[in-house]
Amino acid sequence: VRRPLIAGNWKMNMDHVQGITLLQKLEWTLDDAKHDFKRVEVAVFPPFTDLRGVQTLVAGDDLDVVYGAQDLSPFDEGAYTGDISGQFLSRLGCSYVLVGHSERRSIHGESNEVVASKLAAALKHSLTPILCVGEGLEVRQSGEHVAFTVQQLRESLEGYPASAAEKLVVAYEPVWAIGTGEVAGPEDAQEMASALRAELVELFGEAAGESVRVLYGGSVKAANAAALMQEKDVDGLLVGGASLDAGEFANIVRFEK
Ligand code: 13P
Repeated sequence: VRRPLIAGNWKMNMDHVQGITLLQKLEWTLDDAKHDFKRVEVAVFPPFTDLRGVQTLVAGDDLDVVYGAQDLSPFDEGAYTGDISGQFLSRLGCSYVLVGHSERRSIHGESNEVVASKLAAALKHSLTPILCVGEGLEVRQSGEHVAFTVQQLRESLEGYPASAAEKLVVAYEPVWAIGTGEVAGPEDAQEMASALRAELVELFGEAAGESVRVLYGGSVKAANAAALMQEKDVDGLLVGGASLDAGEFANIVRFEK
């Protein structure tokens, strides 16, 4: 069985003070609701500058929420101004790291090749990568969305070791559904999640492919979370805007499967 993962990507929101307040509120809300973290895992992805504060809060208050970064460098250290190494992230207690988010791909021109090198860096530093894939509006309208996204997955996983396949998390985020209020229907999410899983089985074998968690992301809210999570191959949600409100995010975490 795949343990559901509800992940909040704060993007470039919440400074280090706001981030602490949000995380505290989230933990209180989930505690009040007696959330069972063993049943549904909860992760947040704050900006880099929040991570030290998040680490201190999580360790000090023994929080159950885990956290990760939104990106990492393919390199360990050196003359890479502005970049952050996976080594630094794991020393800050990060469990996860997002790799290849569509905003990294479009704004920073990250190719599948760059994404593949970042996946390798994540593994090297014991971070669980959440590989993001998904098509834009034009591809969706052309009807080629499944082929496009599966190819993006395959190319991003070039060189990814089969021995680490079970650790991988994949997030399907159709670009046209991100921050637009336009959510993919549960059946669209399922169609893609099952195609991605089939490709993972082909790449890494049945057991590994079946163990990888596939998340959906794009305009997820408390109101549509349960329907998305109802789908057989959707194992979690990657939430942007709605993760900035502790109450709303907690309600997403408490979806009923
Ligand atoms: P929204 O939930 O704001 O659409 O963002 C989705 C996303 O990109 C999460 O990584």
